[in-house]
Amino acid sequence: MIQTVKGLVLRNVKYGESDKLVTVLTEEGKKFFKARGIRSITSKNAAGCGSFVYSEFVLDVKGDKCYLRKATPLYSVVRAGASLSALALASYFAELAEDTARDAETGKSVLHLLMNALYLVAKEDRPTDLVKAVFEMRLLAANGLMPSLESCSQCEKGSDGEETLFFRFLEGDLVCRDCLSSADANYIRVSPALIRLCRHSLESGEEKAYALKVPPSLLKEFSRLAEKFLLHQMERKYATLDFYREICGLAPMEAVSEEENKANNKEEKNETL
Ligand SMILES: [Zn+2]
Repeated sequence: MIQTVKGLVLRNVKYGESDKLVTVLTEEGKKFFKARGIRSITSKNAAGCGSFVYSEFVLDVKGDKCYLRKATPLYSVVRAGASLSALALASYFAELAEDTARDAETGKSVLHLLMNALYLVAKEDRPTDLVKAVFEMRLLAANGLMPSLESCSQCEKGSDGEETLFFRFLEGDLVCRDCLSSADANYIRVSPALIRLCRHSLESGEEKAYALKVPPSLLKEFSRLAEKFLLHQMERKYATLDFYREICGLAPMEAVSEEENKANNKEEKNETL
């Protein structure tokens, strides 16, 4: 059966002598196919199967196997000559998209989010931390993992911004100091400004969310929260994220977590003295 689809190339892996295995994200979800002879110098399909290229693919579907007949590039989302950190961030986004586009329903929303985020990453005119954090938050929300950010999830205190609140990464909710239990291990104290920013990043239209003006120190907190929340929810590590952090000169996530745990403990001790 011949099938024509449009999609974004998330990954292409060398296979055998001259073939590649290609993963694309379409509005109907992910598609995998073998592109035979694509690494040959005379292949006409190589450009259409490049990373971050949105193309039209003609596929030959035989049972559960799928082969490429033709790939026509429509446009490259990440331009050639983008900085190494932009490419690293784009690779991380692509890996996240591959992980979260599970079916036709999520495929469509994830493709939409990914295309917009990649466009902004490539443009390099917004704070990278903001684009990354907004994408992480909205991607989780698109997968039904919307954090609860109104007030303490147990006693509903704190909606007025008067209470000290903590964000729990596993539950994705807020709790006040009285409701924080000794069993809670992964949480961070959040300021009212940070809570408001998280809400804006999710509740505003996409364009507005990526254009939010955020002071550097608050952006740093937001970036950490979004990244840790995502990693806790996805329950896995991303090599592409580690690579991105390395390029940006950031410490590995484990070191950051340890530092934060120490800070949390110290703070509690100080307040009980
Ligand atoms: Zn409470």
